[in-house]
Amino acid sequence: MGAEREAGLSREGFEMETVKLNNGVEMPLVGLGTFRLQGYEAVHRALDAALGQGYRSVDTAAVYGNEADIGRALRDLLPRHGLARHDLFVTSKLGPRDMGQGAAEAGCLHSLEALGLDYLDLYLVHWPGKQGYRSEDARNPSWRRESWEALERMQEAGSFRAIGVSNYTVGHLREMLPACRVAPAVLQSEFHPRLVQRDLLDFCSDNSIHLQAYSSLGRGELVAEDKVLRVAASLGRTPAQVLLRWAVQQGVGVIPKSSDPLRIGQNRQLFGFCLGQDHMDLLSGMHSNTRYCWDSGTVV
Ligand code: NAP
Repeated sequence: MGAEREAGLSREGFEMETVKLNNGVEMPLVGLGTFRLQGYEAVHRALDAALGQGYRSVDTAAVYGNEADIGRALRDLLPRHGLARHDLFVTSKLGPRDMGQGAAEAGCLHSLEALGLDYLDLYLVHWPGKQGYRSEDARNPSWRRESWEALERMQEAGSFRAIGVSNYTVGHLREMLPACRVAPAVLQSEFHPRLVQRDLLDFCSDNSIHLQAYSSLGRGELVAEDKVLRVAASLGRTPAQVLLRWAVQQGVGVIPKSSDPLRIGQNRQLFGFCLGQDHMDLLSGMHSNTRYCWDSGTVV
């Protein structure tokens, strides 16, 4: 087992709620997802609940169309919760239409401006291909390289504390690692019991890249799965907590999305219990290569 997969547990066996990235930056293992969280009222309500329940990390993206609302809500909420900017870990992502020379730099600056922040804690290339072009387009590798170089420059300039990628396959990572000046600190990818991307997790672990899962709840569908319900009932936890704990226990970060204050609170209570090996195996045994989101496997 690589060091990265042990990241959720300290040497003494006490649990840590953060992971140290390969450049020393510390990132919370649990953050609030915000895909489809639309409108200032909804964003404000969710962030208010999240900050009140101890979340210190929020995940957004240019394509979610909510960067400006998140920035505005944070300006209002951080002081109310007695928090400063440096208490919060903010992630955003480059829009796939902004891949490539020139466009990538502008996309990075646009995210900063929309959020109204001087710096972001983590910025990701959202997708390995360029929007509007076919997956097989032979220019995708150049667009990826140029985009990554833009993120490297933004990090060097102090605008991003850490940089990473999302939806990259092992193939995309193998291509970028020998060529980049800064190795990605994070890979954000779909990962849950129906899509146990073991090869990706092993590759990340071997290369000091933190794997952060998205769609951990299968967009809400996995919470109704029989095996998940059984484990939850036997531990007196919610099905969502079981799904999220399954990831965190492997050192994989999670960013569950909810607009409901009660669920937001429950989804963060992952550190007071442990799944036994039998439960871990039962959940991992659900693997059926099922995706609830997009598949980048065909992007050259
Ligand atoms: P998800 O977190 O797996 O599921 C969200 C859904 O589950 C929502 O419909 C939510 O409904 C429901 N839910 C939340 N907590 C629940 C609970 N405790 N019990 C029952 N249902 C619950 O899906 P996701 O939004 O796809 O993924 C999470 C985040 O990952 C996104 O928001 C986004 O930030 C990120 N993401 C990134 C990518 C990428 O390409 N990089 C792709 C997808 C997602 P309510 O809101 O009504 O609670």
